[in-house]
Amino acid sequence: MLIGVPKEIKNHEYRVGLVPASVRELVHHGHKVLIETGAGDGIGLDDRAYKAAGATIAKSAEDVFAKAEMIVKVKEPQPKETKMLRKGQILYTYLHLAPDPVQTEGLIKSGCTAIAYETITSPRGGLPLLAPMSEVAGRMSVQVGAHYLEKAQGGAGILLGGVPGVLPGKVVVIGGGVSGTNAIRMAMGMEANVTVIDRSVDRLRQLDEIFGSKVQTCYSTLDAIEEHVTSADLVIGAVLVPGAAAPKLVSRKMIKQMRPGSVVVDIAIDQGGCFETSKATTHADPVYNVDGVIHYCVANMPGGLSRTSTFALNNATLPFALALADKGAKKALGDDPHLMNGLNVHEGKVTYKAVADDLKKKY
Ligand code: NAD
Repeated sequence: MLIGVPKEIKNHEYRVGLVPASVRELVHHGHKVLIETGAGDGIGLDDRAYKAAGATIAKSAEDVFAKAEMIVKVKEPQPKETKMLRKGQILYTYLHLAPDPVQTEGLIKSGCTAIAYETITSPRGGLPLLAPMSEVAGRMSVQVGAHYLEKAQGGAGILLGGVPGVLPGKVVVIGGGVSGTNAIRMAMGMEANVTVIDRSVDRLRQLDEIFGSKVQTCYSTLDAIEEHVTSADLVIGAVLVPGAAAPKLVSRKMIKQMRPGSVVVDIAIDQGGCFETSKATTHADPVYNVDGVIHYCVANMPGGLSRTSTFALNNATLPFALALADKGAKKALGDDPHLMNGLNVHEGKVTYKAVADDLKKKY
């Protein structure tokens, strides 16, 4: 199969659909890879690295879209790209179609077979192509939290790990799922005092087994959230209620009771955020202050660590890319119900129920 990788054109998107190691795997399986010149430049993957892995360099996105049988990307196609898709072509990327009827209509019109990373499932449950981004965001949350606790950044001047003779800072993680667990690991690594709050006792039990007495586990009630948030130096919001907006678990009153210069990082901001005081920010202007508390609410945190994120994403996407290339879409989808869950649009029809329902609501 001829696989094409265009350079991402969404604003400030530096990730790329395939890294050279993935290209080499595909070539090793007998496929050809056509990559747009400069596609990986933003994260230090130049044309030479792709050529060494066996790719052919294309001069333009038009060239890639015209020739490739499967397009591998990161972000949803932009209108200019959607127009270049055609019947029989596979599009394999993040799509997030439910809130985006314009893109859905574009994909319907194109006749292509669009497979969305975010709806592919795993036999162990969960969404394996979303998990790497939650891992990045979780780990990053403690890194940015520690940074904004520094006095020069407007923080309280607290070192999370403390030093011998001085108590460590207190980190509270609300939501102990994928991103929360990764935040816990980083906070523990910095030797902070860590508390995790979750509404699933089973999850708290698992966390207790993984981390032992180094992490305090606490069941999620208003009381517990109030007690721990108001005494924390860094609070990380990492909750998810699948298919729903994030619950507002931390009120403005609680924020007001925190020590001035404390920091909150709302990872769940892409679902509306779990602090009453949260509003989405960008990497260009990531923080703002409410009642003396620094808020970091960047909606695409992994974009700030685009090189690590690209490699993490490729580890998760490559097995399905190989299956699609080796077997063709029909057989690969027929053989694997988890990959089939990723199919959102096929030959002019929406094939994913939630997306179809949202489109119906609009008309
Ligand atoms: P997850 O499903 O793995 O974990 C969510 C956890 O929240 C679960 O353990 C669940 O029990 C817990 N929870 C739900 N309601 C709760 C409540 N009332 N009190 C306490 N805990 C509660 O989800 P995840 O993959 O860690 O993702 C978390 C959020 O981060 C999602 O909204 C995701 O979209 C978002 N995310 C944001 C970025 C970003 O750049 N900002 C990046 C990746 C993921």
